[in-house]
Amino acid sequence: MKIAILPGDGIGTEIVAEAERVLAAVADVHGLKFETEHALVGGAAYEAHGHPLPDSTLNLAKSADAILFGAVGDWKYDKLDRPLRPEQAILGLRKHLGLFANFRPALCYEQLTHASSLKPELVAGLDILIIRELTGDIYFGQPRGRRTAVDGHFPGAEEAFDTMRYSKPEIERIAHVAFQAARKRSKKVTSVDKANVLETFQFWKDVVTEVHAQYPDVELQHMYVDNAAMQLVKAPKAFDVVVTGNMFGDILSDEAAMLTGSIGMLPSASLDKANKGLYEPSHGSAPDIAGKGVANPLATILSAAMMLRFTLNQPTAADHIESAVRSVLSSGLRTGDIWSEGTKRVGTREMGDAVVAAITGKTITTKT
Ligand code: NAD
Repeated sequence: MKIAILPGDGIGTEIVAEAERVLAAVADVHGLKFETEHALVGGAAYEAHGHPLPDSTLNLAKSADAILFGAVGDWKYDKLDRPLRPEQAILGLRKHLGLFANFRPALCYEQLTHASSLKPELVAGLDILIIRELTGDIYFGQPRGRRTAVDGHFPGAEEAFDTMRYSKPEIERIAHVAFQAARKRSKKVTSVDKANVLETFQFWKDVVTEVHAQYPDVELQHMYVDNAAMQLVKAPKAFDVVVTGNMFGDILSDEAAMLTGSIGMLPSASLDKANKGLYEPSHGSAPDIAGKGVANPLATILSAAMMLRFTLNQPTAADHIESAVRSVLSSGLRTGDIWSEGTKRVGTREMGDAVVAAITGKTITTKT
């Protein structure tokens, strides 16, 4: 099993290092063998190779069974032409590897109910799955407008626009993924669109309805995105599987993240049609806290667990990581983003130590 490790920028390197230690610990305990290879991506790759996704990184990602990704981006690259910006690396990987289905589970851990911005009774036991289409929509439509950009901006321009588009096969395949995922859960799918205003999303709605005919055992509900944004904070537990396009999914999954306490807790998987995948935390490179050793590594550690489950077919090892995370939270350790009165504040490395110790049963003491 070959894993490409792409830490990226900002806190990416810090949190991926902890996930790697957790993977090594679980491999040791369960007798698994992983070959790992590292490569630069995002701003780090731009600095070294002049491109955020150099061929060497792309080739490694293609040759690996799975990819563990940190995060990319920094404000200092905002003035670069768009194709050279760090964020293009993740878009490029999704496109080149055909990673069209993004799974973002939003799970509120019992121990973190009070870290949510909502009342505890609204989020206690929350367990929803947002499935976001990743390779279409406005992010991949033809950008138009005055591309005579100066430092990435358009001084004096009268207009700029991007085109939103989806093809029928793109909608069909994500709809199948959602209905199949719902069959393993509570058999309920909410398809989020903006069919009242956008042609692309009337088409989305029609195609999802057509695919639904093959899944009579699954309940399908359609909801406009503005209403979905409202319902997510009003009664989030009413949702189970939510399927939506690239842009709406981007926004709603961040909203759902906050319901669970912190974006630092949310893993994600981006899968191709054969379940090969890229696994990354739902958050970005957090330049505001990079290098301080305070980032929460749990979203990345939980992403590694998803990698073991979905791509590497090691569900027992995945369960082991997830139960180790629960036991660490039960012991009261918290990084700053999930800290509350009465719990113990720890840094990135100590949180990683605690998860490793919960897996191996051996205590680790990090010198700080
Ligand atoms: P962000 O997710 O990086 O940070 C938002 C807020 O959440 C910040 O206050 C940050 O400190 C906090 N945060 C994020 N992850 C955390 C963690 N693990 N532990 C504790 N706190 C955490 O989003 P942003 O600030 O909007 O973007 C920063 C950069 O990341 C930008 O360049 C953006 O383009 C990029 N980005 C990259 C990805 C990706 O690599 N997939 C995703 C989103 C944003």
